[in-house]
Amino acid sequence: MTIAIVGAGLGGLTLARVLHVHGVDAVVYERESSRGARGQGGMLDIHSGQRALREAGLFDGFLAIARGEGQDMRLFEPDGTLLLQEDTPDDAPLDRPEVDRADLRDLLLDSLPEGAVRWGHAFDSADNGVLRFADGSRAAYDLLVGADGAQSRVRALLTDARPAHLGQNVVEVGIPDIDRTHPDLAAMVGRGNHWVLGDGKSLAAQRNGDGRVRIGLSFHNTGEDWFATSGIPFDDPPAARARLVDLLAGWDPRFTALIAACDDVVVPRSITALPVGLTWPSTPGATLLGDAAHLMPPVGEGANMALLDGALLGLALAAHPDDFPTAVAEYEREMFERTSAAARMSADMQELLMSPDAARRLLAFFRPG
Ligand SMILES: Cc1cc2nc3c(=O)[nH]c(=O)nc-3n(C[C@H](O)[C@H](O)[C@H](O)COP(=O)(O)OP(=O)(O)OC[C@H]3O[C@@H](n4cnc5c(N)ncnc54)[C@H](O)[C@@H]3O)c2cc1C
Repeated sequence: MTIAIVGAGLGGLTLARVLHVHGVDAVVYERESSRGARGQGGMLDIHSGQRALREAGLFDGFLAIARGEGQDMRLFEPDGTLLLQEDTPDDAPLDRPEVDRADLRDLLLDSLPEGAVRWGHAFDSADNGVLRFADGSRAAYDLLVGADGAQSRVRALLTDARPAHLGQNVVEVGIPDIDRTHPDLAAMVGRGNHWVLGDGKSLAAQRNGDGRVRIGLSFHNTGEDWFATSGIPFDDPPAARARLVDLLAGWDPRFTALIAACDDVVVPRSITALPVGLTWPSTPGATLLGDAAHLMPPVGEGANMALLDGALLGLALAAHPDDFPTAVAEYEREMFERTSAAARMSADMQELLMSPDAARRLLAFFRPG
C-alpha cells in the first residue's frame, strides 16, 4: 500500500515522520528542486502543535530551536503611545515559543530516511491510482494526501472550494542584521513582536533568529486589485519604501524609520482563506491536510493545525495499516471539528485586527477587565 504525500511543508513532513516512527513507508513529492530552493519565511508561534512534535519524537530537537524570548510583545498606537509591553522571563514556560520556519522544516527533513522526499516533483493531476507530475513523470499510489498548501492542486479532487480574498493586503519588508546596522531600531523592536495598529493599517515587526527583523505592513479593507492601484513600484525598492512611508502619513517617525531602514526585498502578499468549517464527503484514496484543507487568516493557528493534522493522520494510518478508508474517515472527523474551531477563532481575531479601534481592542483582549 503506497502512501503519496504531495508537499514537503510542515504538515506533509510531520505525516511522513510519524508514519516512519511507526514503521509505515510514505513518499513525499515536492515541487521545489531542493530544501534551500526558496526562502521559508519568518517565525512561527508554536503552541498546540507541540503535541505533534512529541508524537514525531522530535520534542527535544524542537526545544533546541525554540526561542522563548520571541514571545515578547510590544503594542503601540500610530502616534507612538505604548499600550502594552510584555517581556518573557528567562524561566517562563515555553507555551508559545517562536521558531524559525526553516529550522522547523529542517528538523523534520533531517528526521526522514534518505530519499523519502522526491524534490522537483510538481503534482499536476491524479486518477485511478496514478499521480502525474508537471514534467510528465508518473507514480502509483493507494492513498494520496494533499499537503500542498494554500494554492493546493490536490484540493480540487475533494471540493470545489477556493480561497477567497479577505480584504487585507500585506507588503513584506525587512531589516537585515538589525543589531549591527540599526541598534536604535533594534532596541525599539525588542526580542519578539512589535505591533502598531492603526485605523485601516497596521505594522507587525518581528525579530527572527538570524538577526533580521521582518516587517509586514497591512492595508485593510482593500480589494484584490489593490497592489496594482496602490502606487507601490515593487520593481524599484527605494521608491517602494518611499511610497510606503507616504502611506503611513501621520505615524510616529520612529515607525516610518523602520521602513526606511529596510533592504531591497519588497514582497506583496494578498491574504485569503477557505470558508470556515469547510468539509467534504470522505473519499477513499484521497484526503487533505494543513492549508490545503483549511487555509485561515495568518494569526498564529495555521502551522499548529498543519502539524497536528500530519501527526494525527499518521497515527490513524498506523492504527489501521490495512484499512486506509477507515483511518482517513477517523482523521477527517477529528480534523474538521478541531480546525473549524481554530478557523472561527482566527476569523474573529482577523475581524478585531482590521477594526478601526484594533489597538484598544487587542489591549482589552490581552488585559481583560
Ligand atoms: C506571514 C505568515 C505568518 C504566519 N505565522 C504563523 C504562526 O505564527 N503560527 C502558525 O501556526 N501559523 C502561521 N502561519 C500559517 C502557516 O505558515 C501555514 O498554515 C503552514 O505553513 C501550513 O503548512 P502546510 O504544510 O499546510 O503548507 P506549506 O507549509 O505551505 O507547505 C506546502 C508545500 O507544498 C508544496 N507544493 C505546493 N504545490 C505543490 C505541487 N503542485 N506539487 C508538489 N508540491 C507542492 C510547496 O512548495 C510547499 O513546500 C503564517 C502564515 C503566514 C503567511
